[in-house]
Amino acid sequence: MNELSLKAHGKINLGLDVLGRREDGYHLVRMIMQTVSVHDRVKLQKKDTNDITMSCDDAALPTGDDNLCIKAAKLLFDAYHLSGGLDISLEKRIPVAAGMAGGSTDAAAVLKGINTLYDLGLSVEQLQKHGLTLGADIPYCIMGGTALSEGIGEVLSPLSPMPQTPLLIAKPKIGVSTGAIYKALDSLESYEHPDIDGLIAAISAGDLELLCQKMGNVLAYVTEPMVPEIEKIRKIMMENGATGAMMTGSGPTVFGLFESETVMHACADVLSKTGLCETVIPGYTKETS
Ligand code: ATP
Repeated sequence: MNELSLKAHGKINLGLDVLGRREDGYHLVRMIMQTVSVHDRVKLQKKDTNDITMSCDDAALPTGDDNLCIKAAKLLFDAYHLSGGLDISLEKRIPVAAGMAGGSTDAAAVLKGINTLYDLGLSVEQLQKHGLTLGADIPYCIMGGTALSEGIGEVLSPLSPMPQTPLLIAKPKIGVSTGAIYKALDSLESYEHPDIDGLIAAISAGDLELLCQKMGNVLAYVTEPMVPEIEKIRKIMMENGATGAMMTGSGPTVFGLFESETVMHACADVLSKTGLCETVIPGYTKETS
């Protein structure tokens, strides 16, 4: 096998709580992660020259050593003394710097792809261990589905899969830095913690309405005042038939969950006309990655 094409799915957070901070600066989290249909496409091609190269259809993204795809490939090439080189082509569809783990899921796809392309025979756990050295969300992206993520993101427990549910992704015309948002959270005196255990129970019960009531994201206390569009978009989604709507990750992307695909598409039309969003993407939650 000389080449391989993989989908790299984005995620949303149905819940995100921060419990504290380790001495090394990493935050201790309790997050409910959910794979969504929105995905990038990662193509890997072996080549004879001894270098790892990359191209991307989004000119705004770095394609050098800073890109997580290149970092992931170099990691496995070095660790397993792989010979020859690799060309990576990335079709970027997940909004960037948007709280959807875009870079992490691309890196996860590269790790999984190289494992297959070079017959490395690495287990999911081994791939996750490698992934964690590059980013806290990468172990989850290797696994996908509905999961509780604890520790700094590396302690993962699969949850009963959320049934496929219509979803709308809307990103305001601004990106935010995950690191800066977590840092700003540290200077908040107090905030209300979401009921993550209640959320897990609602997921197990398959009760979308209860799930939406239990959704919560502490990072919204920081990002929402910085990006007023978030609350406006959330309100429009709720007024146009969403069962629930919330910011994902460090934001500023807002997602809405809907009972009906028709209502979701109608809401997408309304939102697209507001001028509040850079992108409005219809999709659905996915049971596996
Ligand atoms: P998370 O949800 O994990 O906090 P995010 O979705 O908010 O991440 P990304 O889309 O991963 O953020 O982008 C964060 C930064 O990472 C970008 O500013 C970008 O320059 C850099 N980056 C490196 N590699 C990639 C990649 N393959 N795709 C997207 N961004 C990348």
